[in-house]
Amino acid sequence: MIKFENVSMEYSNGNAALSDVSLQIDDGEFVFLVGHSGAGKTTLTKLLICEERVSSGRLEVNGFNLEKIRSGKIPKLRRTMGVVFQDFKLFDKMTVYENVAFAMRVVGAKPSLIKKRVPFFLDVVGLGHKSDSFPDQLSGGEKQRVAFARALVNNPDTIIADEPTGNVDTDLTEGIMELLVKINKLGKTVIVVTHDMNIIQQYKKRVIRIENGTVVSDKIGGDFLE
Ligand code: ADP
Repeated sequence: MIKFENVSMEYSNGNAALSDVSLQIDDGEFVFLVGHSGAGKTTLTKLLICEERVSSGRLEVNGFNLEKIRSGKIPKLRRTMGVVFQDFKLFDKMTVYENVAFAMRVVGAKPSLIKKRVPFFLDVVGLGHKSDSFPDQLSGGEKQRVAFARALVNNPDTIIADEPTGNVDTDLTEGIMELLVKINKLGKTVIVVTHDMNIIQQYKKRVIRIENGTVVSDKIGGDFLE
């Protein structure tokens, strides 16, 4: 569960990025997070993975209290979250398999578990046949699927996708959304940060809209950015 209670966040230069945000996302929910550029979406996701700290208020994420979490516990928190960044952040010199396996190696997973899980999640994202390819041999959509497999492989509770349809052709959008719905059906909480009004209107899910650092609407179904 993710619970913001009166959370404010100010950067060290005095920029107030979030002010008095209260919201709850339950386990297994599918949520779109929308808002104009500069609204505070990135800051909100950075707070979730403790890349930034709350300035005031309470923030609970998957059982961790982030306003007082000690730095030694942050890796444990991050293991509960799989983040798919817009630029995918794949290692060019590693194969698809190695890119996904690496995420398990850095958390000290056993080789036997790696051997089982990596092919499983490559199949989930439909890339089982590309394990030995290198990122530069893949299309943008395929690279993104590798990033999804890597985000999933340590079995996180929550997946955050940052503009998943932003860098791929529109004809791939549906496939990505289907993958996100599939991931949600695996029991994961899915948070999609997006500007893509078409998908928001098509998939009648919860839409949290932030502007100027505050939640201005939170409802199921379409929401419009003027
Ligand atoms: P979004 O992701 O919705 O575009 P951000 O969370 O990136 O919005 O930004 C929210 C506000 O915080 C903006 O006013 C932005 O200028 C400011 N901001 C973002 N990152 C920093 C930073 N590292 N230092 C200072 N201010 C920042």
